[in-house]
Amino acid sequence: MNTEKQLKLWVKGKPVHNDERNECCPDFSCCQPQLLAPEHERKTFLEAYQKDNEKTLMSMSIEFLGRAFSSKKVYVAGYRENYKDEKKEI
Ligand SMILES: [Zn+2]
Repeated sequence: MNTEKQLKLWVKGKPVHNDERNECCPDFSCCQPQLLAPEHERKTFLEAYQKDNEKTLMSMSIEFLGRAFSSKKVYVAGYRENYKDEKKEI
């Protein structure tokens, strides 16, 4: 599946993980449905992709990534927020 097709499905509310390229939708909603971004944001992202608007793509990607972290559903090794509730036991 090419990226544009994946993005168009996502805009329609059908987030699909791109197995060919092993890529998530920009908001990761293919793998974490509760992260699905509002429709107007999905449209804005697709438009930016079609217009090659790197600045918008980058800032939106960072925003989506931030939401994924704050939902506590995405864990990355070394990300300090993951460990803040753990008590050190010796
Ligand atoms: Zn995915």
